Amino acid sequence: MLNNFHSTFFETSAAKLSQCPAPSVPEIVFIGRSNAGKSTAINTLCNRRQLAFASKTPGRTQLLNFFSVLNQSNTIARLVDLPGYGFAQLSQSEKSQWDIELGGYLRNRSALHGCVMIVDARRGLLALDRSAINWLAIRKTPIHIVLSKADKLTTQEKINVQRRTFEEIQKHIEAGHTITVQLWSALKKIGLIELESQLKQWIIPTSL
Ligand code: GDP
Repeated sequence: MLNNFHSTFFETSAAKLSQCPAPSVPEIVFIGRSNAGKSTAINTLCNRRQLAFASKTPGRTQLLNFFSVLNQSNTIARLVDLPGYGFAQLSQSEKSQWDIELGGYLRNRSALHGCVMIVDARRGLLALDRSAINWLAIRKTPIHIVLSKADKLTTQEKINVQRRTFEEIQKHIEAGHTITVQLWSALKKIGLIELESQLKQWIIPTSL
């Protein structure tokens, strides 16, 4: 049984799609605008302080970082961090290249079982998030939207951001695309059990 994601280790980085490991186990990709709290979320989930931060600087060369999730020393899944998504300091041509590569991963990666989309709860969904939803809608890869930094919101603001997010994804859900939403705070550990159980649902049916 996989209890949690504490036995997760850095495996490899890929600067291009062709450098990804063989798609042998289910992958869960983490995406989110810079500063949304993605690295902190991965670290909190895996109970490690630095796991996902190593990839943050300079941020340009690495397209994807792969972390293996171990269960009794077998890799049963991979968490995949996309540090380039929404990286603000890229030039226009670099951005287009990222879009091609990132879009390529999201559209075509056969091992991809689910996407965790980290969204700053104070901002809600942004243009890049909507593009990613549209890419994933084509192949109906499930998306779990994590509204981060919930500790910064009042009770009413939490209700409002959840309602707004649901309204935005309604048409996708009606079209049969599974998209779920939760509140999250790494600081206050709000939503950890919910996030772990969503990830396990994506991994376990095919791996155990
Ligand atoms: P990334 O660029 O998406 O990987 O974002 P980081 O994980 O580096 O987080 C960006 C900033 O948000 C950092 O200063 C974090 O300390 C802060 N942060 C991340 N998660 C939370 C949270 O749950 N609550 C609060 N209040 N701040 C957070």
